[in-house]
Amino acid sequence: MGDDTLSLMLAGESMVLDAQRALIWPAQRTLFIADLHLGKDEVFRQSGIAVPEGGTLADLRRIDALIVAHAVERIVLLGDFLHAAPRGAPRYLQTFRDWRATHGDLAFVVVAGNHDRRAAGRDLTDVVQWQSNEWLCGPFVCRHLPATSPQGFVLSGHLHPVIKLHGSHRERARVPVCWLRAGCAVLPSFGSFTGGGEIAPAQDDELYAFAANRVWRVPRRS
Ligand code: MN
Repeated sequence: MGDDTLSLMLAGESMVLDAQRALIWPAQRTLFIADLHLGKDEVFRQSGIAVPEGGTLADLRRIDALIVAHAVERIVLLGDFLHAAPRGAPRYLQTFRDWRATHGDLAFVVVAGNHDRRAAGRDLTDVVQWQSNEWLCGPFVCRHLPATSPQGFVLSGHLHPVIKLHGSHRERARVPVCWLRAGCAVLPSFGSFTGGGEIAPAQDDELYAFAANRVWRVPRRS
């Protein structure tokens, strides 16, 4: 019923899905994640909505574990890096800077997402490499919004895809998935405080689910 990693081929490259909702390209020591929404918890608290603290650091620790487990030298973030353009000096920015300072050799590429619109190219420019709209990386087209491209296989995010699993009785569970369509992968949201949107996959699509520190291929009903 799955393990904490799973191998698959994308665009002729051997890739690995990690149960922490990440995609790794081992040959290039590259980690792809989408929809970190850094600082979302802090933005919520500023609006008076009670949510637990420590989400930013917890997510950075999850990235640390991925870096170690997969010998990662480059992170490519497929949009929605920040939940909102920072105003003033929010704590999560310093938390990120402190974390970044401990990873001097790590390349950190961010393809701007809709939530990054105002921050892209303006904030954190000394520690991340902002890319607007699309960024080509080997056979992959890295972008935030799912699409197909004549330029390569699209790696994307944005949708925070989840599916509902139905048990034989009345069990129901919503789980995040990586959604593979022809020419396009939609990664699950990486941030631990991001929610999800239920998708309606086609019969030929492939789904990989993430839960309880496991990743597994979802069998399709015939
Ligand atoms: Mn998002």
